[in-house]
Amino acid sequence: MRSDDDWEDTMTLAELIPTLGESLRGQLEPGIWPRSVRHGVDGDLLLGGVPLTQLAARFGTPCHVLDEMTVRLHCREYASALPGIEIAYAGKSMTGRGVLRWIAEEGLSLDVCSAGELAVARSIAFPASRILFHGNVKTPEDLKAAIGYGVDRVVVDSLDEIEQLGALARYPQNVLVRVTPGVDGHTHKAVATGVEDQKFGFPLASGAAMEAVGRVLAQPSLRLVGLHCHIGSQVSRVASFEEAARRMVAFMALVQVQHGITLPQLDLGGGHAVPYRCGDPSFDLRGYADRVLRAVNYECSSYRLPVPRLTIEPGRAIVGSAGITLYRVVTVKHGSKRTFVAVDGGMSDNPRPSLYGARYTVRPVGRRFSHTSTAVTVVGRHCEAGDILAEDVPLPADIRAGDLLAVPCTGAYHHSLASNYNMVGRPPVVSVLDGAARLLIRRETEDDLLARDLG
Ligand SMILES: *Cc1c(COP(=O)(O)O)cnc(C)c1O
Repeated sequence: MRSDDDWEDTMTLAELIPTLGESLRGQLEPGIWPRSVRHGVDGDLLLGGVPLTQLAARFGTPCHVLDEMTVRLHCREYASALPGIEIAYAGKSMTGRGVLRWIAEEGLSLDVCSAGELAVARSIAFPASRILFHGNVKTPEDLKAAIGYGVDRVVVDSLDEIEQLGALARYPQNVLVRVTPGVDGHTHKAVATGVEDQKFGFPLASGAAMEAVGRVLAQPSLRLVGLHCHIGSQVSRVASFEEAARRMVAFMALVQVQHGITLPQLDLGGGHAVPYRCGDPSFDLRGYADRVLRAVNYECSSYRLPVPRLTIEPGRAIVGSAGITLYRVVTVKHGSKRTFVAVDGGMSDNPRPSLYGARYTVRPVGRRFSHTSTAVTVVGRHCEAGDILAEDVPLPADIRAGDLLAVPCTGAYHHSLASNYNMVGRPPVVSVLDGAARLLIRRETEDDLLARDLG
């Protein structure tokens, strides 16, 4: 995506501030920043052609900014790497009408896992024929919403749910059985869902998956169309996906032997890793496409099964690096050991550092900064000592109250994980494209917070 004049800008900035730390050099790591990012004047950055200082002035801080071009490019890259394969965007990573419209226009399918997420999809008339409904807990309201909108597939996750869905469905409801293939994605345990001892799915090894298949087949109102697995999030090892695919095809063969049915669909889930910082492992989409398709084809031919229609479900890989968050520095505190740079957001807009120990790049924008950098801890405004956005990151020695900080790779699992802790309103979501900014989700106000509180 880099053209010659970007390169010139990069050189100019690097020459201006040659001694700054890694994060302050001219490079804007392409896997981490949105594709449209450019250097502006006086230390500003442009996203979708709009200066970040202008976005902060117009929409306030903290503010989530999404680059529409990056989201669309990611959709197209998936479609071109995996022709003929259904790409279902995992809506939980960032649910909003604006984003779901782009997803619908790009021809992707959609995963939802609650009546609320489905309500957003429904409000923009996202085609029900392209919706899958997930989740280890689906309440009666969730199941009724799914049936009411006519979602194409419900991915069943427990024996109770099979009974409940069977009782509620009026017409044959397409169902996938969520299987736990026993594959370790080598990821954080809070997001490892392929291993056996966790709450999702029916384990293969114990026979639970085969039992679930039998129970679905016994429900006249359910139509078993295939199997699903999702081995976790932030998985970069293609070999883990390959192994899961092999085990799933082997299980399809077993289902054929035991029940005499050939399942037409196989959903291999998402969890494709994205780098948050320079040097983090990234996901090799072409390698994945090549190796996983080869594994499925090989296993199918060795079991003499027809190749099923495949679905994959990337969430983070579609929206993660499309987003940044802008914060304003409110105070800089020089402690006995560390310098704390405190901003106007924190764990209410980004709980990932406290949930998973996630680490981020932080970049100051909007003026010319000192040539020397110092290691600081960027903290939030909330009443928890663990409310840390970035630990031990280099910032200019003259960083001060009023400065603007941009944190990249906040498009996924930021707004969707946001809370109102300390009665702080959730930030707005603004999209940028071709020099124009659009407010997709407005900032939550005190009136919003009070509206639910009936005292
Ligand atoms: C969360 C989830 C995904 C997407 O995970 P990413 O890490 O965002 O790609 C896909 N499928 C299922 C079932 C999920 O729960």
